[in-house]
Amino acid sequence: MPKRVETLVLHDSATPVLGDTQKGGSVLVTSVETLINQARANSLWPLTFGLACCAIEMMSTVASRFDLARFGSEAFRATPRQADVMIIAGRLSKKMAPVLRQIYDQMPEPKWVISMGACASTGGVYNNYAIVQGADQIVPVDVYVPGCPPSPDALIYGVLKLQEKIKRSQAHSFTDLRLFEGLTGPRSLEKVEG
Ligand code: SF4
Repeated sequence: MPKRVETLVLHDSATPVLGDTQKGGSVLVTSVETLINQARANSLWPLTFGLACCAIEMMSTVASRFDLARFGSEAFRATPRQADVMIIAGRLSKKMAPVLRQIYDQMPEPKWVISMGACASTGGVYNNYAIVQGADQIVPVDVYVPGCPPSPDALIYGVLKLQEKIKRSQAHSFTDLRLFEGLTGPRSLEKVEG
């Protein structure tokens, strides 16, 4: 029995058409950059970096009640080479900081970081010699999720804000798209002083 092929109509009156393609045809005109940004934003693979109590809330986001899978981010990876967003969940000790940086460096480009909770973002109540007073002293942070601990909803909101940021990002050249860096491995392995 022959298969029926449905045509996905993506055209509206505001979209320019190519040649003599009629309104209602299956043509969508967009930039490569927009297409790539959409794909990246809607398929974020988080790296688990649970450091303390916040990690329990992070785990809840992928469970059935909150279901982060609705936003394309349920595939938490235990290896940095298969992840593109690091979620720092919990207080970061100075002893752990070089480890965090090394794992960040092992993630392929492009990559992003979410700082989850007061401890990860500012040190929280642990203003002492052992705790880093903000994970952004070690890695560049894209989104801060406030709270102690932030609820799973708050983390999901942080993921949505990160998606917005990725969709808005602009490349000024083909190299800026960083299409092949993920295939060739990390750009650098910087040594972090403890
Ligand atoms: S922010 Fe609160 S819940 Fe999160 S690691 Fe710190 S003390 Fe624990």
